[in-house]
Amino acid sequence: MLRRHLVERGITDLRVLEAMAAVPRERFVAPECRNRAYDDGPLPIGEGQTISQPYVVAWMVEAVELGREDRVLEVGTGSGYAAAVLSLIARTVHSVERHAALAEAARGRLRTLGYANVRVRRGDGTLGWSEHAPYDAIVVSAGARRVPPPLREQLADGGRLVMPVGWGWRGQSLVRERRERAGNFTREKLGRVRFVPLIGEAG
Ligand code: SAH
Repeated sequence: MLRRHLVERGITDLRVLEAMAAVPRERFVAPECRNRAYDDGPLPIGEGQTISQPYVVAWMVEAVELGREDRVLEVGTGSGYAAAVLSLIARTVHSVERHAALAEAARGRLRTLGYANVRVRRGDGTLGWSEHAPYDAIVVSAGARRVPPPLREQLADGGRLVMPVGWGWRGQSLVRERRERAGNFTREKLGRVRFVPLIGEAG
């Protein structure tokens, strides 16, 4: 997975590659999918949701430019896999999932596997998780037409947000927004992606 799906497609950040090497993806998928845990694609995790393709996880984590002391917000915990990868690079990860069953399962899995700096909450991630804001990095693992305004508000100065944006025939682009010091945002389009929808009040 590391060489064929990540390095050969251009993932170069060593911390990202090390984290992807360390997290056992087979523990985040259903037992009947374990033999496909390192395949180059998404897999079902229940509730009609998917664990993202490994390359896409690595791409997003690299794109959000994490530092060791960063506080991260993830929207869309799903299986907890991306949260585990983020937790090995950053200081803390706060992750919000709207499906109670998925949030519960991810919390248990992350605890069992010893990812002690991750907190999972069931809730509407389009509203962020204001108690722990501001965040140095925000990763949104589901797509919407626009970046939910509460997420921009919860980004620290100099912080980065990575999210699939777009809808309909145009499809989705992975977008990186950076909050500059005066509170204005710059946006870059990083490439085409396809994610499950972000469903929520500000989505
Ligand atoms: N990062 C996950 C993959 C997530 S798939 C992993 O590594 O496994 C996207 C997830 O976003 C789904 O679990 C879906 O239920 C969740 N989701 C969609 N809208 C949401 C919202 N408004 N708030 C929180 N989670 C949301």
